[in-house]
Amino acid sequence: MSSKGQLIVISGFSGAGKGTVVKGLVEKYGYSLSISATTRAPRPGEVDGKDYYFKTQDEFRTLIDYNGFIEWAQYVDNYYGTPRKFVEQEIAAGRDVILEIEVQGAAIVKNQYPDSRLIFITTKDVETLKERLTGRGSETEEQVAKRLKRAAEEASFIGNYDYIVVNDDLNTCIDTVNSVILSEKCKREKNGALIEALQESFSRE
Ligand code: ADP
Ligand code: 5GP
Repeated sequence: MSSKGQLIVISGFSGAGKGTVVKGLVEKYGYSLSISATTRAPRPGEVDGKDYYFKTQDEFRTLIDYNGFIEWAQYVDNYYGTPRKFVEQEIAAGRDVILEIEVQGAAIVKNQYPDSRLIFITTKDVETLKERLTGRGSETEEQVAKRLKRAAEEASFIGNYDYIVVNDDLNTCIDTVNSVILSEKCKREKNGALIEALQESFSRE
């Protein structure tokens, strides 16, 4: 197995259930999760430093200026960014890190970290997406409309992704994403050092 951690990017339409899936991946399989910074207001129950680092526009701007993000993007009316330090530390320590980010940020990550793998989570159809997004009850009608409009735009980015996973049954989706990540780690090209060591040992037999 390769010694560096794998960077796993998870995106999906708002309401597809990616937050729920990511929570399941962390709880069930112990993945390390990057906590993003955002200028969005906390939803009821969200905790600073656990769900997001909640920042003012000025604080966010300062982090950009100090190269504190590996990527950042505007989504609907707010800014979101991935803190650089945590991700680099985790990868260097050999831990797999999940980034749950939107499509523009995912494209930047892919560009900067070509070994990253991009997974797109979707509902099986638009009706289910609308039901989940309104059922969550965390956005106003106007905000839901903006997120659905943005989802239509995001659909054109799906071609950037390595894998598409449908979130129909939640546990199946969590297990499928985990399988995708595991199979990535078994790829021959990610295991050059192991293969060389084996071949070297056999050559001495
Ligand atoms: P996202 O992070 O993609 O915006 P959430 O994780 O907040 O989406 O999920 C949106 C809503 O859908 C939440 O109310 C969540 O409980 C629900 N949900 C997530 N996954 C499923 C699923 N597989 N089946 C039914 N409801 C789900
Ligand atoms: P929400 O407001 O629903 O928590 O997130 C809105 C969107 O922003 C989601 O698509 C989520 O994946 C994305 N997002 C969260 N954190 C980041 C980040 O650090 N960078 C980028 N580019 N998008 C993010």
